[in-house]
Amino acid sequence: MLRIGIYGGTFSPVHQGHVAAAKAFMEQMWLDVLYVIPTGVTPHKAMDGEVTAAQRLRMCELAFADVEGVIVSDMEIRREGKSFTVDTLQALSGDDRRLFLLLGTDMMLTLGSWRSPERIFELCYPVYIRRESDQALDEEIVQKIAEYNQTYGKVVRRIVSDPIEVSSTEVRERIRAGQSIQGLVPARVAAYIEENGLYL
Ligand code: ATP
Repeated sequence: MLRIGIYGGTFSPVHQGHVAAAKAFMEQMWLDVLYVIPTGVTPHKAMDGEVTAAQRLRMCELAFADVEGVIVSDMEIRREGKSFTVDTLQALSGDDRRLFLLLGTDMMLTLGSWRSPERIFELCYPVYIRRESDQALDEEIVQKIAEYNQTYGKVVRRIVSDPIEVSSTEVRERIRAGQSIQGLVPARVAAYIEENGLYL
């Protein structure tokens, strides 16, 4: 059985929190392969008009170039129309593999209202990673996870890692304000953002 991880997001831009989360996910779920999948037109979030999907993809490739076992995939970007997680899981599923889906707090709380949640729970094991800024949501998350367990009969696993306090929003705001993003995103991503004048 291959253990395959899936980590999706807007990644506009990908930052150190994403990289650390991906590494902890690989280690703690004993993944053979991790697919990092930037969304195409995401149904969960308004898109950032100025940065193209190809640029978000490129930044992910740069961020994960040195992380063994990571495949940065353009499968959701290539797909026409909105990206639905259930379609991605379906595309990656197979008899020889077990799928694990990494979700942050925001995503975990809304999972029950995505397209075909019962199918999502059939196709994968959701894995939860907490962000430090989400402390206020701890109780809500515990309740939600218990609710999913009851409704879908599947246990949500949990990654334990030292959270890195950074968001893409913060990175974009700092760039717009002319502040340094050093240490918040991988160096190669910072260089790419600067060379291409992104998020100004
Ligand atoms: P934005 O600030 O634009 O909302 P974001 O930083 O939340 O962006 P996304 O691309 O939306 O980045 O995140 C993809 C996934 O990674 C989500 O499941 C999110 O919860 C998770 N995530 C984002 N930042 C971190 C972090 N610092 N630590 C752990 N998980 C994170």
